[in-house]
Amino acid sequence: MSFTSLGLSPFLLKALANENYSQPYPIQKEAIPAIIKKKDVLGIAKTGSGKTASYVLPILNNLKSNKPLKNRHVKVLVLVPTRELAIQVEEVFNTFTSALPERVKTMAIFGGVSINPQMMAMNGVSILVATPGRLIELEESNAVSLSDIDTLVLDEADKMLNLGFKEEMDCIFALLPKKKQNLLFSATLSQDVENINQVLLNQPEIIRIESKEDDTELIDQIAYAVADSRKGPLLRYLIKKDNLKQVLVFVSSAFKADGVANKLCRNGIHAVSTHGKKSMNSRTESLRRFKTGKIRVLVTTDLLARGIDIEFLPYVVNYELPRSPKDYVHRIGRTGRAESPGEAISFVSPDEEHHFKVIQKKMKKEVKLVDSSDFDMQGC
Ligand code: AMP
Repeated sequence: MSFTSLGLSPFLLKALANENYSQPYPIQKEAIPAIIKKKDVLGIAKTGSGKTASYVLPILNNLKSNKPLKNRHVKVLVLVPTRELAIQVEEVFNTFTSALPERVKTMAIFGGVSINPQMMAMNGVSILVATPGRLIELEESNAVSLSDIDTLVLDEADKMLNLGFKEEMDCIFALLPKKKQNLLFSATLSQDVENINQVLLNQPEIIRIESKEDDTELIDQIAYAVADSRKGPLLRYLIKKDNLKQVLVFVSSAFKADGVANKLCRNGIHAVSTHGKKSMNSRTESLRRFKTGKIRVLVTTDLLARGIDIEFLPYVVNYELPRSPKDYVHRIGRTGRAESPGEAISFVSPDEEHHFKVIQKKMKKEVKLVDSSDFDMQGC
């Protein structure tokens, strides 16, 4: 099946071809026609399933017949849990709006940065991608009006609820018109998500997609038995020996992330750390430079493990194992995305061996554990 049978305009079909999207992913096959028909949709799907394009494309398709906007009255609102996801979703909109004959302005807004530039840039915005707290601030300052919203998207609704945005979400829902199209995407169908479904969605089309993120088949996994004190040299040894590039390294704390990145730099390997203690600007910039290959190694905490899509990321290293098996799958799910194979490398200290067995049992997959004590790590 190709995109042509889904009801998208020739402009969008051309943009899809330019992006080398040759076939719709399963969620796109189901969601695009339903959204074009203005139905509500409940999509149970994670990042990596192609869910962003599954709503971006039909929303843009439907937007073309809309009448001009009143100033600061946006038409489409996409609520997301994090700044990183806001930027990523805005990028997908921009990829496809650039192919449209008329200008459609999309903007991402989020907290942690100055509000004034966001207020000033709001003029003429049709599509707003927002984190809940900052959206409320902007609405309260009359920088944006939500009274003409035509389509609401809740992306990663479960994560928004986990992050404690329930009150903000309710407050935003109360500002929106009753009659609108509602699209709810969530990785899991928790009771809280189900409650939103009940109050917000009108006879939704329900789409459930098994995510690639849980499909560890695509990912080559290997583990090294290594003492804690030898993890740094082992990381540098592997990076140098196999000339690894675009390596995402997970550690358990911000402090550790800085330490590991510093050590790599001192050994001539370009590395940067990013975590919750860094400024928002620094986090975005590091991720952008890493994605475009300008940073060889990005060392991070579980901050980046969920929700962020990095295309063609070849290597993920668990320098320290995560606490839960679920987090392990999320972390290694950064690689092996969008049909490109990846490698997940775990460093397992004697103290972590039992925990690693639990992870493998939960994952229902055995990972080869290689003894690293014979490696010649001199000079690493
Ligand atoms: P998402 O789940 O929206 O984060 O998308 C995961 C990745 O798949 C992104 O890098 C998209 O660019 C890519 N992608 C989405 N749909 C398609 C498609 N039909 N063909 C090829 N790549 C796609």
